[in-house]
Amino acid sequence: MGATLHVIGSLMIDRVVRVRVLPAPGETVMARSAKIHPGGKGANQAVAAARCGARVRMLGRTGAEGAFIVRELQAAGIDTGSVMSDDPMAGFAAVMVADGGMNSIVIAPEANGRISGADIDAFLGGAAHGDLVLMQNECSGLGHAVAKARELGMKIWLNAAPMGDEVRSVDLGALSCLLVNEHELAALSGIGEPEAALDQLAKAWPMLDIVVTLGAAGWIARVGGALVRGRASPVNAIDTVGCGDAFVGVLAALRSEGMPWIEALARANAAGALAATIAGAIPSMPSRDAIEGFSGRQHP
Ligand code: ADP
Repeated sequence: MGATLHVIGSLMIDRVVRVRVLPAPGETVMARSAKIHPGGKGANQAVAAARCGARVRMLGRTGAEGAFIVRELQAAGIDTGSVMSDDPMAGFAAVMVADGGMNSIVIAPEANGRISGADIDAFLGGAAHGDLVLMQNECSGLGHAVAKARELGMKIWLNAAPMGDEVRSVDLGALSCLLVNEHELAALSGIGEPEAALDQLAKAWPMLDIVVTLGAAGWIARVGGALVRGRASPVNAIDTVGCGDAFVGVLAALRSEGMPWIEALARANAAGALAATIAGAIPSMPSRDAIEGFSGRQHP
């Protein structure tokens, strides 16, 4: 096991209803079924990293009704000493899925938007120089966290999801790794073709490692100054929710234990594929054994 991985991220309650057709404005429809799942990109990625064997501690905020998410984190072995459950309202996602798969989603960050600069300073006070901190864009204080982590000499990884103005105002020169999917890459660079977009970012920030996930097409990255890519592993994909989080969490875990880029990327790719074979986000995060077994089969 390598250094501790520090995650500053979201905890969300995913409330998912299945409907025949999505309601039109002003219309009320009955759900066929309803489910509640633990989620949030921060929680998903923290669990992915912990199941991959990393020692993980997390900063996050939720409300009393989010306590079941905190229990999921603890069950994965994550240090939740900095996860506050004191907020009047937990963050949640209201998800409607229609027959045929079309969906509508509203995200209410709530507690996740009430992480303060003081919370971030106290959390990062428990990190060592050179440790890796992983963030996404579902919580308040992104700019503050980047500045503080830089001051402390940490390796800063940003999964720029969801894309937004907070991400655009981050000094990418402060990061050691930027992780995006193809849509986020296009939004950030203004260029639709991933390789051209990657080239442009690499020219502007030559020291920045950039990893782009391409869904069922795999991934492309510029790491250590080299352009590398890999195909997705063929699987029987039943639900791609959480694939990106599995990829990012596993890559962060393996890089923080010192694994070389190419081996770590191959395992992250395997983790993304495995996550597509199981429904949900947290339930689909694979164990280290599953990742090793699967990548062994893919790369004999
Ligand atoms: P996000 O959910 O953030 O948009 P992607 O859809 O790009 O992320 O998926 C992340 C990674 O998960 C991909 O780079 C790939 O490794 C894996 N993956 C996603 N979908 C599939 C699939 N259908 N088959 C195999 N691997 C997949």
